[in-house]
Amino acid sequence: MPHNEPYGSSFPPPMPPPPPPAMHWWCNNCRQVNSMSRYQCTLCRGNDTYDLCEHCIGHASSVHPGHTFALMPALHIIHY
Ligand SMILES: [Zn+2]
Ligand SMILES: [Zn+2]
Repeated sequence: MPHNEPYGSSFPPPMPPPPPPAMHWWCNNCRQVNSMSRYQCTLCRGNDTYDLCEHCIGHASSVHPGHTFALMPALHIIHY
């Protein structure tokens, strides 16, 4: 009586690792892509976010007044 091993039924296929989160962003004021520091408006979080680079955050009171920005990753909350 030959013994027949079941073939290919023991292990599920390995799951691929999830892709890294998209780190692409650009400043909504000067359009600089992937600047060093990303300041994101905490109030404009719909389909599109409002981001400012470390240069334009100094002008946030004139280009995006009245909103609150958070340095990403959110460690500091800055209100203009
Ligand atoms: Zn900018
Ligand atoms: Zn905003």
